[in-house]
Amino acid sequence: MSTPERAGTAEAPAAQNPFTPTEDQAQLRQAIRSFAAREIAPNVMRWDEASEFPVDVVKKLGQMGLLGILVPVEYGGVGLSYVDYVLAIEELSAVDGSIGIIVASHNSLCTNHIFLAGNEDQRRRYIPRLASGEWLGAWGLTEPGSGSDAGGARTTAVRKGDRWVLNGNKTFITNGSHAQVAVVIAATDKSQGTRGLSAFIVEKGTPGFRPGRKENKLGLRASDTSELIFEDCEIPAENLLGKEGEGFIDSMRVLDGGRISIAALALGIAKGAFDAALKYTQERHQFGKAISEFQGIQWKLADMATQLDAARLLTHRAAVMKDNGQKTTLESAMAKLHSSETAVRICDEAVQLHGGYGFIKDYPVEKFYRDVKLCTIGEGTSEIQRMVIARELLRK
Ligand SMILES: Cc1cc2nc3c(=O)[nH]c(=O)nc-3n(C[C@H](O)[C@H](O)[C@H](O)COP(=O)(O)OP(=O)(O)OC[C@H]3O[C@@H](n4cnc5c(N)ncnc54)[C@H](O)[C@@H]3O)c2cc1C
Repeated sequence: MSTPERAGTAEAPAAQNPFTPTEDQAQLRQAIRSFAAREIAPNVMRWDEASEFPVDVVKKLGQMGLLGILVPVEYGGVGLSYVDYVLAIEELSAVDGSIGIIVASHNSLCTNHIFLAGNEDQRRRYIPRLASGEWLGAWGLTEPGSGSDAGGARTTAVRKGDRWVLNGNKTFITNGSHAQVAVVIAATDKSQGTRGLSAFIVEKGTPGFRPGRKENKLGLRASDTSELIFEDCEIPAENLLGKEGEGFIDSMRVLDGGRISIAALALGIAKGAFDAALKYTQERHQFGKAISEFQGIQWKLADMATQLDAARLLTHRAAVMKDNGQKTTLESAMAKLHSSETAVRICDEAVQLHGGYGFIKDYPVEKFYRDVKLCTIGEGTSEIQRMVIARELLRK
């Protein structure tokens, strides 16, 4: 009788730890780290205070391939995996969450929706421009009267010959006033509820389409969060994205991927805050020693590091499943819920560990603390994630 082989013995090679970055991933991470240290870190507080959108850096991110990270090479992207994407968003967000959300919305909402639901003409027209960063993308689902209840969208699209005519307002749209192209969800048949919602591609400069108010925000202030206004905006019939009546269903599929990127955004911001706190507690002396020598401080650091890793594992699980082509509604919602709530707690603790210095803008944790809150709100609040998780559990 043969004995089963055990991993790690001479007979069987040790299984590769899926959470150890490959050589390519380590290189990607290093390239982003160097870029962020050179091009982003020196400007973070200036952009934040002026609410300045970092146009030049976004162009350079396009040149690096980070605006087409998930797009297959034949459509002009770099064709990397969701795990690579998570690593990239985490690295960028550890330096500036604003950059993280700009890149995440562009990739996993706008570009992914066009890639997922678009026909070949639409893919060929839009994806290469988005992937190269020539065009920035936005994605408009939320309206003033419908946020969590996204199916209640009131923006309308009415068919008129070979055109669709859009009327209504979208609110809180990331990249809204800088995007050259937006995917917009509108009601084509109000009597059908969510099955009467359809998606459309709208290009900047189309008569009747304009960005409205740019929001003045608590955090992520260098990112652009704007209204999109449609007043008798006529677009060609071929700009219907996906099938008529399937815009909401496709949006939920898009959000399954998007929520992984918000989990990564949260991880990055929390990592930035944790690294700053780890360093600070070793430098700050009270009662004649570094505060890191007090057990009360060490336990906080231990909890923060453990919680951060647990959140990262959940996020990577969702990303690995996405790469395997599996449905991730449950796992994406769990990753988003846990990572964002954990990240808020870590950033809070990082400020606490800085004492009064955590409350002033000379130290980076003040900004991490403001930025991180969006993660429990955007792409579905924590309450909505719990609803999604419970629905998936009860369905089984
Ligand atoms: C910086 C930023 C960027 C954003 N980017 C985009 C974007 O690019 N595209 C886009 O379409 N949207 C975007 N959003 C919108 C975002 O997704 C919504 O703000 C979010 O979904 C919540 O909607 P709401 O703000 O209308 O809150 P509401 O839906 O009004 O919720 C208010 C509160 O009620 C709770 N609540 C609602 N319903 C329930 C329920 N059934 N059970 C329990 N609690 C409930 C919520 O959890 C929340 O705590 C962005 C928002 C921000 C702030």
